[in-house]
Amino acid sequence: MKEINAAEFQQEVLNGGKVVLDFYSTECPPCEALAPKFEAMAELYGEKIKFLKIFRQGNRELAAELGVSSSPTLIFFDNGQKILDTISGGIKKSEIMDHLDRMLTLDEVAVIKANQKTTVSEYDVAILGGGPAGLTAGIYLGQAKIKTVLIDPALPGGYMGITHQVSNYPGFEQPQPGFMLAHYMSEQAKHTGIDFKVAVDITSVDLAKKEIVIDGFETIKAKKIIIATGTTPNTMNAPGEKEYKGKGISYCATCDAKYFTDKEVTVIGGGNSAVEEALFITKFASKITMIHQFDKLTANQTAIDELNKNEKISVMYECEPRKFEKRGDKMVTYVEDLKTKELKELVNDGVFVFIGFKSNISVLGDTLPELDGWGYIKTNEDRQTNIPDVFAVGDIVSKKYRQITTAVADGTIAAITISKEL
Ligand SMILES: Cc1cc2nc3c(=O)[nH]c(=O)nc-3n(C[C@H](O)[C@H](O)[C@H](O)COP(=O)(O)OP(=O)(O)OC[C@H]3O[C@@H](n4cnc5c(N)ncnc54)[C@H](O)[C@@H]3O)c2cc1C
Repeated sequence: MKEINAAEFQQEVLNGGKVVLDFYSTECPPCEALAPKFEAMAELYGEKIKFLKIFRQGNRELAAELGVSSSPTLIFFDNGQKILDTISGGIKKSEIMDHLDRMLTLDEVAVIKANQKTTVSEYDVAILGGGPAGLTAGIYLGQAKIKTVLIDPALPGGYMGITHQVSNYPGFEQPQPGFMLAHYMSEQAKHTGIDFKVAVDITSVDLAKKEIVIDGFETIKAKKIIIATGTTPNTMNAPGEKEYKGKGISYCATCDAKYFTDKEVTVIGGGNSAVEEALFITKFASKITMIHQFDKLTANQTAIDELNKNEKISVMYECEPRKFEKRGDKMVTYVEDLKTKELKELVNDGVFVFIGFKSNISVLGDTLPELDGWGYIKTNEDRQTNIPDVFAVGDIVSKKYRQITTAVADGTIAAITISKEL
């Protein structure tokens, strides 16, 4: 692998051969995550493909000419021509390999794959998940000089990283952009010396043996595992939902209701959390319209009685959202009446979705810890599961309140418990 500059571009890239060029920047977490993968790929494919790196900030004109607008960006060339699609951001090893394989013949790929060595590394603790819970566990374990690796299929930060403003995390006078909190926490964890393996594919997890395989051929053995994989919100699969997530559509009333003082909002759902959160939002909003798919709410009767007494809330029964759009500052929800099939427009200042979350347990393999009725992991007060040496922290734990503060508390408790055991 070689570092080049713009002056060498013609000679090194355009004068023939197969080339992959990495535009990287400094102070760029996804670039740091890519560097070891790029190096490993260079070792594996280096005889057939030239691996080059170029510093984006120092070669801005060339970057702009090649349409590079974020770091890292990988561009692929064959005989001076740009080929395949360009990849950027939190790039996974499997994505790079897929591109490199497409530059070679099937026979060449077969030879390379046969040379691919499996690796095994040993740690005291492996943390699965780099949200606030996993990062906090990492900070405490790193400071206790315990050999720790943090593994995440995405970049560190979890939900915190995609939350627009966090106003209830102590220590900051003003609301903080979630990505900054995520950045501070992950840098703090890195400074303690723990290893990060992020933007990786989780191939398998064996909680009984304490073995995790990533990217197909890297086995990580640990004495203890902390599960911090969080949750995934159930989605409606309606057009616009993804685009406006965090930009008009929220999944957290505790976090966002305060931004809707004297405003009108739409709440989607009709179970306990939807009803309780709608009641909470009435402290701020002037009017709430709930959209519920059935002809009755499915929350407990006490919550329904409270809701019926509240004049700010009305319910559209037997209706489902079909599409979301932004019109100026307003959010438009297209609502289908399930009986008449009529499509109506509901225009409000914001939309809250409470149709439940699922815990991210699907990658945990066959030996699952004991779960509650909703699929969340049961732990004792030290955040130990019923599987020896396996802990669970953060939103994946069976508990009542899921916030950044409760996640970091869990990470702290598990890490201190482990520090005393090891
Ligand atoms: C839209 C929204 C806004 C919110 N706003 C606030 C707020 O303002 N204040 C507040 O206190 N709370 C807020 N919350 C709640 C808060 O974000 C969560 O309680 C907190 O992030 C939970 O932390 P966690 O580490 O348990 O999980 P997460 O933050 O969910 O992180 C889990 C991590 O695990 C990774 N992961 C997933 N699968 C795997 C796997 N198989 N292997 C390894 N890693 C995996 C994910 O990539 C992710 O990085 C908000 C939640 C949402 C959804």
